[in-house]
Amino acid sequence: MRYNDMNLLSCLLGKRCLEGPPPLDLEQSRLVADAWQGLDPHQMWDVHAHLAGVGDGGSGIWVHPRMQNLGHLSPLSMLMLRLYQRAGCTHLAPGRQDHAYWQRLESLVDAFPPGVKIILLAFDYFYREDGCCDPMAGTFYVPNEWARQLAAKRPDRFGWMASIHPYDPYWEKKLHLISQWQPGPLAIKWLPQSMGIQPDSARCFGFYQALAQLNLPLLTHCGDEKATHGDAPADWNAPSRLAMALDTGVRVIVAHCASLGGAKGKQDKMGYFGEFMTMMDNPRWKNLLFGDISATLLVNRRPEILPTLLSRVDLHPRLLYGSDYPLPAACFISVAQQLQRGLIHKKQAEILQQILPYNPLLFHFLLVRWLNYQGIGFSPQVFHTDRFFSPFKN
Ligand SMILES: [Zn+2]
Repeated sequence: MRYNDMNLLSCLLGKRCLEGPPPLDLEQSRLVADAWQGLDPHQMWDVHAHLAGVGDGGSGIWVHPRMQNLGHLSPLSMLMLRLYQRAGCTHLAPGRQDHAYWQRLESLVDAFPPGVKIILLAFDYFYREDGCCDPMAGTFYVPNEWARQLAAKRPDRFGWMASIHPYDPYWEKKLHLISQWQPGPLAIKWLPQSMGIQPDSARCFGFYQALAQLNLPLLTHCGDEKATHGDAPADWNAPSRLAMALDTGVRVIVAHCASLGGAKGKQDKMGYFGEFMTMMDNPRWKNLLFGDISATLLVNRRPEILPTLLSRVDLHPRLLYGSDYPLPAACFISVAQQLQRGLIHKKQAEILQQILPYNPLLFHFLLVRWLNYQGIGFSPQVFHTDRFFSPFKN
């Protein structure tokens, strides 16, 4: 068994969903406190956190039946749902999972210094190219209203992003209505393959024009997607398909810096990530194209990705901190792997292992904050994501 497999196994079998502060000694507590030096918590927004549940709390959340019962004979999908339920600690609250997910998230963020905020993501249904909504071709749905409601409950800790499908015949009406809501959405969220969106299709052009007009950014998943199945082609997640959005003047955040996979048949070993970096270097999109660093630490990412992002200090003002919660709690990040690669040191690794079962959000923040490649860590600008949204704050 490889080192990473052992790490995964001990994470899966280990304790989780613990409450209260993690048991750290004085020196460990000092190291954690030092991680905030040079950062202003009031400027720190986690730009990528998912809302999950099963729709048992009036949230309107919908999950594909293949994830919930054996009738669909999809044990892998069911396993994925179990994994996310355990990550979000909702397995402890049968019958009230939607609220348990929210309560856990609220208590995790409340352990951060005042000012730190999380942006919750809504998630629209899959639509076919003929404009028909086809939920069964996707995986899940999180209503805009649920994300807005939660953000409104705790405006000191949460913001939200809406999700509207550009093939929805009513997209224009919805977009204009939602942009009037209070608190307003900070951006629009897409996952092209899982929602059935071809971002370079001419039918997205009007949507991009409306976004540019409303000054509403687009956060869109790029790179291979493993967590949520969708019937659309995988290469709809290619960053190069965003050229039209950018050329229409939309500010685009490429989720995960497109850090997984690549177009079939292409020789470039850096794949979609290489494509994203080439686009970042295109002066035409300097003020429009951004990347969120969530999921770049997952065990399935190429080892060159983090050193590249860390050492490109010139791009740090355009990289945005995100956790992709609940993934940090789902055992997809290996502290041992980062230690082996020399990106963190042993004392930090020990602290991270202690913190993970108590607070996976804090675990993720500290790990990202401590990453160090040849003396270079992520600049404070990467964490100070508030600046990206400040023109849109309510
Ligand atoms: Zn995500």
